[in-house]
Amino acid sequence: MKILVAIKQVIDHHVAIQVKLDNTGVETNNVKMSINPFDEIALEAAIRLQESGIASEVIVVSIGEKPIQTTLRSALAMGADRALLIQTDVETQPLAVAKLLQAVVAQENPQLVLLGKQAIDDDSHQTGQMLAALLNWGQGTNASQIILKDDEVQVTREIDTGLEIISLSLPAVITTDLRLNNPRYIKLPNIMKAKKKPLTILAAEELDVDITPRLQTCKVELPLRRKTGIKVENINELITKLQTEAKVI
Ligand code: AMP
Repeated sequence: MKILVAIKQVIDHHVAIQVKLDNTGVETNNVKMSINPFDEIALEAAIRLQESGIASEVIVVSIGEKPIQTTLRSALAMGADRALLIQTDVETQPLAVAKLLQAVVAQENPQLVLLGKQAIDDDSHQTGQMLAALLNWGQGTNASQIILKDDEVQVTREIDTGLEIISLSLPAVITTDLRLNNPRYIKLPNIMKAKKKPLTILAAEELDVDITPRLQTCKVELPLRRKTGIKVENINELITKLQTEAKVI
């Protein structure tokens, strides 16, 4: 069974985000980029399925500009067999990504597509659901456990009221949640091996998909800084301040 894993390159989650001076977006120049954390979890799940003999090949795919190659090499060093870069300098929004992934699925014919539940840069939480709809495949979102049996996959989902277990027939789309696994660290010899693994670059136009952005970002700004708190002497002072300054009671 082939597994396709969608990997998005995002600003590393340890980096303090800087908003551009003209408020058109966040600064990405000279900023450390990494695999979106939920996609690392998706890749770890795929590699484990391959290690247990269920999957025969793990392919990673990323959509974006050429520097994403470094991120794809990290995915190969983690254990993916080969990588595909769909190259475009158009800002790809979830529907465009889903359409491009649909075209890749048509070429590669995987039985399972794994994605992160959300990208931590846009927090859209949409691509997996859109892809499943476009493909007309079943979807298991926010997976905290994945069990494959014959041509079925059982997905455990964490929902507000507890755990929901659903069963899907393959092929299927699954999006991964935080508690599914802890992704492995990349070992140095695997970084060397990854340099020899295949990485194919395809221009997005070759897939003949309309990826025109449908949304326009009007403004990006940092959240307001919280005022530093003060200590009050007693409950009466607290009530007075809530009435006169905060005006909440
Ligand atoms: P989103 O809907 O933007 O929150 O993204 C959900 C998931 O879709 C991500 O965790 C990735 O697995 C996948 N995805 C989103 N954008 C891209 C991209 N440009 N390239 C590859 N995969 C992507």
